[in-house]
Amino acid sequence: MDESRRGFFKSFSTPFVDEIEEYKPIRLPYNKDASLFQKECIRCEEKPCVSVCDEEIIKISDDNTVYLDFTKRGCTYCDECVKACKMGVLIFDEKLELIDAHIELDITKCVAWQDVVCSSCSDVCYDKAIKFLGMFRPEINYENCTNCGFCIGVCPSFAISATTIGGKGQ
Ligand code: SF4
Ligand code: SF4
Ligand code: SF4
Repeated sequence: MDESRRGFFKSFSTPFVDEIEEYKPIRLPYNKDASLFQKECIRCEEKPCVSVCDEEIIKISDDNTVYLDFTKRGCTYCDECVKACKMGVLIFDEKLELIDAHIELDITKCVAWQDVVCSSCSDVCYDKAIKFLGMFRPEINYENCTNCGFCIGVCPSFAISATTIGGKGQ
């Protein structure tokens, strides 16, 4: 991701989830309209986006739509999924690139906030979006966060989660 794209992302990387009501899947980057996953993915038999993702984070849910699973890895924004989608669900448009999610760090679960040395989340954060206040107080800097999800699976105390509008993703 070049600097101009990262700069564009910064304007969107702000918290927007006020209330968590129900589970909602985290959808792929570049999606034009989230309702298209229900309309088109169910007709897409081969689901090529799944096999082209080197990170293996694109999964198929029970309703036959695709979503992102951040439990082991995150999105590198390699763009392979959008190139593979021929159904118009994913559109190559810079304005649509950012994953529709909000990343949260729960300080009540984070071991570093309980004075245990841990920097697993910031170690994997390519965008340097996790800042420590002193040695033990990590916080997400939403100016830099690109919602990639890499910090979620590495946290030993499951303190980081991704949410999307109206629901909890993981
Ligand atoms: S952009 Fe690349 S890493 Fe991210 S979900 Fe698509 S294929 Fe996977
Ligand atoms: S390639 Fe496009 S239509 Fe097919 S499953 Fe993936 S996102 Fe859905
Ligand atoms: S690793 Fe976490 S904090 Fe860093 S950019 Fe990705 S989602 Fe944001």
